[in-house]
Amino acid sequence: MKTTLNDCRTLDAADPLRTLHNHFVLPDGVIYLDGNSLGVLPATAAARVAEVITEEWGQQLIRAWNSAGWFHLPQRLGDKIAPLVGAAPGEVVVTDSTSVNLYKVLSAALAIAAEDAPGKKTVVSERSNFPTDLYIAEGLCRERGYRLQLVEPDGIGPALHGDAALLMLTHVNYRTGAMHDMASLTAAAHAAGCLVVWDLAHSAGAVPVDLNGANADFAVGCGYKYLNGGPGAPAFVWVNPRHSDRFQQPLSGWWGHAAPFEFTPGYRPAPGITRYLCGTQPILSLAALECGLDVFGAAQSLGGMAALRKKSLALTDLFIALVEERCAGHGLALATPRDHAQRGSQVCLTRSEGAYAIVQALIARGVIGDFRAGDAAGHADILRFGFTPLYTGFEDVWHAVEHLKQVLENAEWQQPKFNQKHAVT
Ligand SMILES: *Cc1c(COP(=O)(O)O)cnc(C)c1O
Repeated sequence: MKTTLNDCRTLDAADPLRTLHNHFVLPDGVIYLDGNSLGVLPATAAARVAEVITEEWGQQLIRAWNSAGWFHLPQRLGDKIAPLVGAAPGEVVVTDSTSVNLYKVLSAALAIAAEDAPGKKTVVSERSNFPTDLYIAEGLCRERGYRLQLVEPDGIGPALHGDAALLMLTHVNYRTGAMHDMASLTAAAHAAGCLVVWDLAHSAGAVPVDLNGANADFAVGCGYKYLNGGPGAPAFVWVNPRHSDRFQQPLSGWWGHAAPFEFTPGYRPAPGITRYLCGTQPILSLAALECGLDVFGAAQSLGGMAALRKKSLALTDLFIALVEERCAGHGLALATPRDHAQRGSQVCLTRSEGAYAIVQALIARGVIGDFRAGDAAGHADILRFGFTPLYTGFEDVWHAVEHLKQVLENAEWQQPKFNQKHAVT
């Protein structure tokens, strides 16, 4: 039996997470399916950032480092992210960007590998990993005399044997939404004498993650995607406690010093995860991110990540079913795994022609997804739709697919204005 608009409304009425929508500000007439790229504005963020500016900065001035708790924001926010990724309090800090944090953890991981498994000279990653991850790894490999080996997903297992010192993977693929089995890949890497760095950019706040349960080594993640921290929000770092005191990260700035306010000339790393800080933090951005994280606190009493995951899968299942029912015959193919265990919180479609223009035509109709270009390695152009269970409803999914159907049926995407590329896709 085909799904109806009424079915979607019934699902919304029965959704235990429905009220979380009220924690966000969304423009009227917009169906936002890009929370995997830039999360939406938490309802408290504008007033909170204004308060930090006028009250804390304006009135407390430099005293605010202590009186307003600015100095400990990286740890305080880290503790709010920890339960979302299976980390314990004190194991996560929020700081810098994902790219910079990757540099820090890759460097620390290579130093450990060089001691524990000397002679191994390869870093393994996935060819379709997010480019910045590959660029950072490429630069570091060049600097340290390692080789970067890029493989397809089915080549990861075989690549671990032999010369691999380090496996660097993104848990949920940014293009396809395919999710790796963190526990089994980590175990396979460890069995082969190889450390693992996980990038949680498309996982944190989107799917349950259990870093300690998987006995992972290092992880980084992004603040401005599913965590709704705002444009350029600082990212986070987790290091397994068994490694955290062992090596210093390469950006040995004073915020990672054991006693920064002793102002001694020599560097002495702070114990634990604090050594992964470098310099003075962006307080306004941290304040905005905290507003995003506090919504997850509110979600806790409604079932937390388990409930969010259940709804996310129901949303992506519904989107797939509706696209297949209502847009059949228009050349769309599914690039995201159907198997729940292998799916993140997004659905990606491919089409031999017009992927970019279809996304543009949808945006003009207020349905905001995005486009990711294919590559010479044979990955197709992708229409990408992120489903954020915190604020996306089942009726939104219905309307999004209805718009997609109309864009295809009317060949609306063929209009020249939808075929001009912008700088940010
Ligand atoms: C979004 C994303 C990033 C972003 O890195 P920035 O340093 O914030 O620009 C990095 N890696 C992955 C896998 C991502 O999805």
